[in-house]
Amino acid sequence: MSSTTYDYLDGNAAAGELSRIFVTDVTAAEGQCAHCGAIKRFAEVHLYMQGPGIVARCAVCENVLLRLAKVGQRVFLDMRGMTYLKLDTSHSLKSSA
Ligand SMILES: [Zn+2]
Repeated sequence: MSSTTYDYLDGNAAAGELSRIFVTDVTAAEGQCAHCGAIKRFAEVHLYMQGPGIVARCAVCENVLLRLAKVGQRVFLDMRGMTYLKLDTSHSLKSSA
């Protein structure tokens, strides 16, 4: 039984990892929590990076919105905690330096 509380980062901390999967900036995307219905930018999520992957939780209700796990060259993305993720494609295909 541990009462350890982990510090979380904001969603911007996942920008690097998510940019390997999505061509648009996910941190600027707007998503709806499937649990409480809150609509927020991904940059506002609570991000937990202490485990083997990344866990993004709703800033309002702490529901798990997104799980990202890397296994070798494969990435498992679990987004069932989100009703939707609205991506702005107007800035896609930008070159990453
Ligand atoms: Zn929520």
